[in-house]
Amino acid sequence: MKFVSTRNKTISVSLSQAMQQGLALDGGLFVPACFPKIDYSSLPESISYSQFAENMLAPFFKEDSLSRHLSSICQRSFNFPLSRVELDANNEILELFHGPTLSFKDFGAQFLANCLSHVKTDKTFTILVATSGDTGSAVASAFYQKPNIRVVVLFPKDKISMRQQHQITCWGDNVLALAVKGRFDDCQKLVKAAFSDPWWQSKTHLNTSNSINIGRLLPQTTYYAYTAWQYFLKHKQKANFIVPSGNIGNVTACFWAKEMGFPIGRIVVSQNENNVIGQYLQSKKLPNKPSIETLANAMDVGKPSNFERLYDLFDHDFEEFKQHVHGLKASDQAIKQTVLSVYQQYGQIICPHTATAFYARSLLDSNTPFIMVATAHPAKFENIVEPILQQKIQVPEHLKALLDKKQHYTQIAPEMDQLCKAYQEAFLPKSYI
Ligand SMILES: *Cc1c(COP(=O)(O)O)cnc(C)c1O
Repeated sequence: MKFVSTRNKTISVSLSQAMQQGLALDGGLFVPACFPKIDYSSLPESISYSQFAENMLAPFFKEDSLSRHLSSICQRSFNFPLSRVELDANNEILELFHGPTLSFKDFGAQFLANCLSHVKTDKTFTILVATSGDTGSAVASAFYQKPNIRVVVLFPKDKISMRQQHQITCWGDNVLALAVKGRFDDCQKLVKAAFSDPWWQSKTHLNTSNSINIGRLLPQTTYYAYTAWQYFLKHKQKANFIVPSGNIGNVTACFWAKEMGFPIGRIVVSQNENNVIGQYLQSKKLPNKPSIETLANAMDVGKPSNFERLYDLFDHDFEEFKQHVHGLKASDQAIKQTVLSVYQQYGQIICPHTATAFYARSLLDSNTPFIMVATAHPAKFENIVEPILQQKIQVPEHLKALLDKKQHYTQIAPEMDQLCKAYQEAFLPKSYI
């Protein structure tokens, strides 16, 4: 299978090339040249999630040098639980937060790291990644001490939770954490700028593990497909999902799974006050505003990168887009109320991002079943959730272990020369400068 740029379908590369490049040369994002239809009815019902993922991803790896490693990549990447909690006849939670850094980002980050460690190369890659909170820790954890890889994580200073920050800054070694005095959009802009900057071109082999990297998005299609398949086996009907969204990667993966023929019905995008999809659907134009700070900080994105992929899926056509994509937003007040009401009604503690999905759910027909996607563990956002519920959240063991480590990070202004300097000091021998 070939992967093409969203901006020019004649730019076409192999999967491992697309993963190594991150962004296409014309600045577009890589998408599969086509979506194979997967015949899930022939799959034995007893197979594990990782075996299912291997089957489903095989067509994308066809003719790529990575294909012979796909089985072990899946086994090593999907080695934590994917769990579904039934709340009542019409409501379920899909918990995507049982990986090493407690958010869904672990699925994509681990998969990409395991793929890149099989790519034959004598280069040292630099993974430059902007984070609104959870990507940074997932990527740092996945690439920590992997040979021939350097990781640079840019996070917006004072705009993420203390535990999120701790999970990004506790690594050291090949991981450089940078606290950027600005917003997530400033971090994302610096990362994008570095890709066309001569300094980075001459001194590094740059890559990214943001969800602009296809190697993160493809594996995310598998948990939607697997869940929809399991749901179909049990209920004989399609699964409807509500997906908390910011940079629109996770929900794009859900649309892709549907495109491959898996039994998925409605897909609702839930957002915080930034509400880019809602505004687009209303005005036909993408808003051009900096991101707003909200309680669901990992979704504080003003310019979602993956919009381009979703738009491409609907043939760059507004009407088509509007027919398939439904967007609902939750204010901070609604997030708070929802964290409380979900606890009161179901005894479930949810994170502020997941709360946007539950709030959207409350606006939809209660007789239509929905699966709410839980994107992070509430213990990462204890500063928000504990005061609302007036009780302590139990901290999972693997988070405890990370929180015991010392933090290392450098503070920079959102400027290219400061980013270069921090990189140089961390990774380049003096003689090289
Ligand atoms: C990243 C993240 C999101 C948003 O996902 P996108 O793919 O950027 O839309 C939602 N919730 C949590 C907890 C996240 O970490």
